[in-house]
Order: sequence, then structure tokens, then C-alpha cells
Amino acid sequence: MAESIKAPRGVRDILPDESWKWAYVLTMARKVAEDFGYQEVHLPIFEQTELFCRGIGDTTDVVEKEMYTFEDRGNRSLTLRPEATASMVRAYLEHGMNKDARQPAKLWCAGPMFRYERPQKGRYRQFWQLDFEAIGVQDPLVDVEIIHLSLELYRRLGMTNLEVVINSVGCPACRPKYREALQNFLEPLLPDLCETCQGRYDRNPLRILDCKRPECKEKTEGAPSIFDSLCEECREHFDTVRQGLETIGARYTLDKRLVRGLDYYTKTAYEVLSGDLGAQNAVCGGGRYDHLAEAIGGPFVPGVGFAAGVERIVLTMEQQGCSLGEPPRVDVTVIPLDPSLRVEAMGLLASLRKAGIAASMDYAGKTMKSQLKVASQEGIRGVCILGGDEAAQGVGGVKNLRTGEQENVPLREIPSYLAKMLRE
Ligand code: ATP
Ligand code: MG
Repeated sequence: MAESIKAPRGVRDILPDESWKWAYVLTMARKVAEDFGYQEVHLPIFEQTELFCRGIGDTTDVVEKEMYTFEDRGNRSLTLRPEATASMVRAYLEHGMNKDARQPAKLWCAGPMFRYERPQKGRYRQFWQLDFEAIGVQDPLVDVEIIHLSLELYRRLGMTNLEVVINSVGCPACRPKYREALQNFLEPLLPDLCETCQGRYDRNPLRILDCKRPECKEKTEGAPSIFDSLCEECREHFDTVRQGLETIGARYTLDKRLVRGLDYYTKTAYEVLSGDLGAQNAVCGGGRYDHLAEAIGGPFVPGVGFAAGVERIVLTMEQQGCSLGEPPRVDVTVIPLDPSLRVEAMGLLASLRKAGIAASMDYAGKTMKSQLKVASQEGIRGVCILGGDEAAQGVGGVKNLRTGEQENVPLREIPSYLAKMLRE
């Protein structure tokens, strides 16, 4: 026998015992989006590779090591999206949203992202993100709104033990000076840093601060921080963000080392960390990206947003015992006492479903006893029993499994009878 085929490394099936938890998180995200005035969009799963190379930056981990890039049959280089921000800005520009009167465009999406990473708990090669973006204005209060939105989502999900870390990563006006200072600091340390860091010294020394290797982290501990060389405009922007966060009662920590993994960030950068996740502890990350639109060939269009990992949200919520709602179940099961009544049972089932009652029946030839056992195990509330004699008289037995009461009800009245019973 041929070996059975398994899913590729680093991807997961989200099975029924878990999918309802995801639905809960997504429903909550949708509600928060509405309450903050963000509109949902659906973006393509793959894009031209160029979008990510230019949008995210050639020297980032994501572009250098993590992309799923392939050639299609027309010899175009395409990439499974590793994140959504670049796509969102591409869509904004492509559809002329910059010409709309209402700015910023407040958009969100949810879906799978793909990164070739070493799979671990909370780190997968296909994972889901919730992505919120406000594109079109530079107002620091939009940064506050974005951070607030993420925190409000986590609050409604009941998540606790979270830490907000923020920093400003400056702008093209203040970064060159900082870059030089950083290079001066790093030069004597270079031989001790990893190969990737060495390669980044010339191309993008800021990235070195984002290296996850403990040895590199330790060596660069005393590095000067971009925060200390911000220009006047970036400093003022950051001050307003901090005031805004304080006003909405959001507690945060300033982390002068936070640079984030993507090149496009300017000014505000932030992450929300979960104290219950171990090594993969970021439940979301985001910030401002005022030059992303230009990087992908558009005009100057500022923006700010965040992306949250759905797997890590669910993991944190499970760890913390947060309520994730309940798995969906049917309320009613229909049991024909005789195989000859199965087709008639199907008709009853159809009328129940038409009345909005969640109902099912057995197709596997189980005995009535085992069907009743399954029904009570699954928390089913009502059973309709179709017996030969009663069915011939146009009635069915309806049993309330909560009270044990049973009554004969004319078949046509069963849906409304059950609807009433389920309301009680
Ligand atoms: P990390 O530092 O954990 O690698 P990142 O900075 O690469 O995160 P972002 O690109 O900011 O992550 O993505 C936003 C969020 O998406 C993260 O905070 C995390 O919750 C989630 N995420 C990122 N990569 C993965 C992955 N491989 N598997 C699961 N979730 C992920
Ligand atoms: Mg990463």
C-alpha cells in the first residue's frame, strides 16, 4: 500500500473541536471592526513577488528567508502573501481610494498568511492574521485608534496578562544620522555577530537589532537607540501618541530596542505581548508606514495598522481559560422508528430547518437506544419520534429531553411546537 499523504510540515488542520473557537474570535473581530468604523475587504492570497520585495523590504527576514515564491505557468513570479499590509496598500492605490473624500480609508481583513519558518508552538508556515489598516492620514491619533482597537479586541475576548510595548523608529529625516551612529557602534562587534547580521551591516544595520539569536541580542545590548535621535517631528508625533494612550487608559512600556521585522515602519511601532505564550509571545504587531505606498510605486500615502495572529490569540485564551463561546450543536434530532419512515423523517427535518430549528437525523443505522444516548450526550434538547401508527394518523411524538415530557403533536405543528419549546 502506498504511504498515506500527510499535510506539509508547519501547517495545521483546524478541526471541528477547534474551529468554533476561531469563529468566536473572528465574530468578535468583526464586531470591533464595526464599532471602530473599519470595513472588511478580501484580498488575494498571492501577489506579484515584487510587491513584497519592494513593500516589505529586500533585507528583512520575511523577504530574505521566509517567502513562498513560485513561477506560474505564464512564467510570472508570484508569492503567497506573508502579510497583508502591502496588499492592502496596493489595493487602496489600485482602486483609487486615495481620491475618496473620506480619509483615512479604514479597512480590515482576515485570512491565511504564509512564511517559511521553523515550525514551533505558535509559529506555523500557514497561519491566520487579522489585519487592520487606516490609510491616508498622518494624524498621530490614528495610531492611538489602531492600538486602542487591538486592545479593545483583546479586552472583549477576555484576554489578560498582556503587555503593550511601543517605540518610535523615526523617519527618513532622522534615520540616516542614527544609522551612522549604529554602524559605528556595531563595527567592532561584527566578527562576533551571526552571518545574517554581518550581511546586514551595510545594507540595513537596523535589522541587526531585531535578530532573534541570544548571542547577537546580548552583544548589541548597549547599542544606541533610534529613540534618542528622533527629529522634532517624530518626537512630537510620539508625544501625542503617548498622551492619547494615557487618555484612553492604555498602559504601555517604552521599548527603545523595538524595531519590528519589516522595513516599512516609520514613527510608531508597537507590539502586544502575551505573558502566557513563552517564546512566540507577540499576539500582534503594527505601526506606521508612511513610505510604503511610495515604495510600491504610488504617491506619498501615510498609513498605520496592525496584524494579529489568530493561532496565538486562541492559544492565549485557552491558556487563560477565557470563554470562547460554545461549539455549535443541533437542538433537535428526528428518529424514525421504522426504516420505512426514513424518507418521511427527511421531510420533517426539512420543515424544521425551514423554521430555523437546527436539526439532524441518523443516517448510519443506529438503534433508537443509541440515538437517544448520543442525543443526551450532545446536549440535544428535543427528539421527534416518528412511529408507524402515529405517523399514519399524521402525528409524531415530541420529547423534551430536559424535562422528560413527551407529547403527540400533529406533524404540521411540530416546527412551531418545538420552536416554542426551545424558547423556554
Ligand atoms: P515574530 O516576532 O513572532 O516572528 P513577527 O514580527 O514576524 O512576529 P508580524 O509580521 O508583525 O510578526 O505579524 C503579526 C502577528 O502575526 C504576530 O504578532 C503573530 O501574532 C503573528 N505571526 C507572525 N508570524 C507567525 C507565524 N509564523 N505563525 C503564527 N503566527 C504568526
Ligand atoms: Mg517573524
